[in-house]
Amino acid sequence: MKLTRDILKDHNEKIVLRTIRQMGEVSRTTISKKTGLSIASITNITSRLLEANLIKENRYGKSKGGRRPVLLGINEKHSWAIGVKVGYLYLYFVVTDLLGTPVLEQKIPLNTASYNAVVEKIADFVNTIVKIPEYVDRKFLGIGVAVSGSVDSEHGIVKSSYILEWGNVPIGPVLEERIKAPVLVYNDVDSFAVAHYTIGRAKKYKNCIFITLGSGVGGAMILGGKLYTGRGGAGEIGHMTVICDGKKCSCGSYGCLEAEISFNALVDRIKKKTNIESLKNRSCLTTEDEAIHYIHKALQIDREAVIEAFDEISVLLGVAIKNMINIFAPDYVLIGGEALEFRDLFLKKAILIARENSFGDLGDDVVIDIDDMGEVAWVQGVILNLIEKEVFQVDGRGNTYEV
Ligand SMILES: [Zn+2]
Repeated sequence: MKLTRDILKDHNEKIVLRTIRQMGEVSRTTISKKTGLSIASITNITSRLLEANLIKENRYGKSKGGRRPVLLGINEKHSWAIGVKVGYLYLYFVVTDLLGTPVLEQKIPLNTASYNAVVEKIADFVNTIVKIPEYVDRKFLGIGVAVSGSVDSEHGIVKSSYILEWGNVPIGPVLEERIKAPVLVYNDVDSFAVAHYTIGRAKKYKNCIFITLGSGVGGAMILGGKLYTGRGGAGEIGHMTVICDGKKCSCGSYGCLEAEISFNALVDRIKKKTNIESLKNRSCLTTEDEAIHYIHKALQIDREAVIEAFDEISVLLGVAIKNMINIFAPDYVLIGGEALEFRDLFLKKAILIARENSFGDLGDDVVIDIDDMGEVAWVQGVILNLIEKEVFQVDGRGNTYEV
């Protein structure tokens, strides 16, 4: 089988392939009308795409008299890609088909967050999948890596990740060398944003803000229909100052949103408010699951203290959302992350504060939504853009689904 890249060096082939993807199932005549290419060209191009196994002939369409047209669709099993979220002491893998649809998910624990260990585990996972019989003949498109912190996606470098304690780690080039396949590295919240913008509810909007709440507080922005990363690392909403002389943050600054409202900050607030010894003396909690467990336990035995703590958090979150609305005038704000589990205790008030205090009418019409995709979105965005880059992108432009 020829390499996908060789088949797709022709501009018109990519246009046809994109059209087929956009339409789902489509006849040659419709592709011709949609692209402006002649029926003869479409027949040639689609034969090449069929020969390369990139598309398939599907069921027969409706006939307007005469022979019924054959409908063409993407052969999603032509190739596969892997996405991995590098979390603190775990890796979360998602395998997708050519359309970026997840077909397999797996979470594995790690003993260490060291970058060598992470590279080895990712390589092991790729080697395991490659050996599955049904994948042997399919093309491996590469790996999308999602990491917390500041990322230089162009060079595949994690500039700094406080959670992982990584600084200037060239994980992209190192993994490419190790597995001999393309690697795309994104900040994990950027990946989350791209997934929601490409296939989620955010796709109706051009200016979107994403905020994720959990053991960290993350942020990302789609502005004018494009992911905005600045020099790499833009959108660190979690490190916006919300209290001038506030708590010390993992980034070294004080009073950052993350230092004030993350799970750890929430646990500290509960400990300060409660008089119940078992809650007060609880030692340091390291993982997200431990913090969630603590909050649930606190809700059972001292609900009032927990409600007071969440109330403080809702004010700070409301101020942060208001600031983002004032600066970017977004159409759409999406809140995600593990803390949504407790959303009844803080989100309504935070949104109210944000809307009521926004400048002029900026807070009135902005859609404020909550994540409905869950953990997979953290990985799926970078996979979708990897597939776009490797297969569907025309002339290096556009990473959206429009033709
Ligand atoms: Zn900070």
